[in-house]
Amino acid sequence: MSEKRIELPASITVRELADRLDASPIQIIKVLMNNGVMASINQQIDFETSAIVAAELGFEAAPEEVLLDESEETSADVPLWRRMIANEDASQLQPRPPVVTILGHVDHGKTTLLDAIRQTNVAAREVGGITQHISAYQVEHNGQTITFLDTPGHAAFTAMRARGAQGADVVVLVVAADDGVMPQTKEAIAHARAARVPIVVALNKIDKPNANPERVKQQLAENELVPDDWGGDVMVVPVSAKKQEGIEDLLEAILLTAETLDIQANPNGRVIGTVIEARMDKSRGVVATLLVQNGTLRKGDVIVVDTAYGRIKALYNYRGRQIKEAGPSTPVGAIGLNSVPAAGELFQVVKTDKEARQIAARRAEEKKVKARQRKVTLEELFNQFQSGEIRELRLIIKADVQGSIDPIVSEINKLAEGQSDIKIKILHAEAGNITENDIMLASASRAIVIGFNVQADVAARRLAEAEGVSIRLYDIIYRLTEDLEKSLKGMLAAEMEEKPLGKAEVLAVFNISKYGRIAGCRVREGVIRRNAKARLWRGEDLVYEGEIDSLKREKENVREVREGFECGIHLKNFNEVEVGDIIECFYIAEAEA
Ligand code: GDP
Repeated sequence: MSEKRIELPASITVRELADRLDASPIQIIKVLMNNGVMASINQQIDFETSAIVAAELGFEAAPEEVLLDESEETSADVPLWRRMIANEDASQLQPRPPVVTILGHVDHGKTTLLDAIRQTNVAAREVGGITQHISAYQVEHNGQTITFLDTPGHAAFTAMRARGAQGADVVVLVVAADDGVMPQTKEAIAHARAARVPIVVALNKIDKPNANPERVKQQLAENELVPDDWGGDVMVVPVSAKKQEGIEDLLEAILLTAETLDIQANPNGRVIGTVIEARMDKSRGVVATLLVQNGTLRKGDVIVVDTAYGRIKALYNYRGRQIKEAGPSTPVGAIGLNSVPAAGELFQVVKTDKEARQIAARRAEEKKVKARQRKVTLEELFNQFQSGEIRELRLIIKADVQGSIDPIVSEINKLAEGQSDIKIKILHAEAGNITENDIMLASASRAIVIGFNVQADVAARRLAEAEGVSIRLYDIIYRLTEDLEKSLKGMLAAEMEEKPLGKAEVLAVFNISKYGRIAGCRVREGVIRRNAKARLWRGEDLVYEGEIDSLKREKENVREVREGFECGIHLKNFNEVEVGDIIECFYIAEAEA
């Protein structure tokens, strides 16, 4: 029998499932009843169950791919496109243009440089096109294309990274040759480094009489950006954005740096990308600049971005010309979303309006729940560290003067040395008050912000609250280290306790050569989970304590089975299970204070 493939979510109502399977709810309820499940029309059923129903109706169900859920946050250090193409057919991968973003200290010439590149290399807007500015453009150099994100400033870059998108492949760091490395230059270096994006330095304002390239190179080297002519691996290109000099060399350097990255995408693959910028336009509705990162986006496609969605009514390129489709690394203007998404959000193409609406609704619901839960407190970070979710404790340190940073850093490093199993990493240390940028970096990197004799400004506090970033202020170094140490020790010695999951009753016992005795069970309460801890009770007697090493529904291996459902359980290294035994399932976690 040839089966139709269908993607189903982790949980779905009976009514919804009927819709998707093109069946009546009554039909679905009947199939469920035949499988021993009594469900009402609005009841949620899990994927395992809906998959069985789907199979009975001639569908082959696969779990719906949910794009980048929060559990993937730990892999935020790996650029999205790399994670994405890991799922693509390798033979379909093709090189794509590098995407470049420009960072640097205020007034060092970011905007002028973006204009200079645009003017020298981009053809004029096409006549008849919509005069619609989009915040990205493309240039050609020696027959190769480069995509520039026209959103200078760290906020755009970090916003993307905070959402795991990481739009840029290469960062151009603009440093004015007459001014040198300044606080925001350092901040930009920290951002790029945290995101593991390579840097090309544009040594700007080289036309100025007081330009001092050698001094700037020295400063760059002090910040671990060793120029290639000094034997390092960072290309430093002298330019004058104002006089439009050195632009070609800069493009060359960008392409050379990008070459080492092996940047690819599958033009025929899953369509996915990032919002560069979006706003509400009075006559056109939501106008979004999107960067396509994989696949090909087409006019008429239905997209979902976070909780916004819509069918694309019009697509136009950076020249303002209407286009029908856009492949990887292409920036496009898109009209048709129902609400304004935030910069940095990911978009994906889905098949129908309805699917889009459902995904958006589910996310809105999840957001509400998450807002209540998510807090990057020190304690939480240690918890995650303990459970192996994060590999290191990341700190951002702001202090009143440079002179107090060094002793703080050395004290923290000393502390870290005493902890063999915990790595403490200082992402960024700088003199100055705690700003929004620090919070952005902290949120994107899951770090906490430590202030020493400084304040957090109002905007920073507000953002920290919204993003759940923890700020800790100190005025005495030993208090700071004492606090860190206490938390470390406290958490390391955290008490563990048992948390119950559920119970199942053994209704039958089967012998399966590969496993041995399998207990055919019905879950009586809670949930039974594969790899969880288990006890086997026979009446009052505890017969076994160990773990569940195999859990099946029908013939499928499953992760968990809920109350009311039947399943096959095998207990690790145990083959004496009998009808009537009770299997108790639980896990061990830190006791709540
Ligand atoms: P941003 O804040 O980094 O975007 O800097 P801008 O692009 O706004 O430039 C700040 C100032 O520096 C402006 O007055 C520019 O005209 C000037 N500027 C930018 N690039 C150059 C350059 O290559 N040479 C000179 N002499 N001035 C420049």
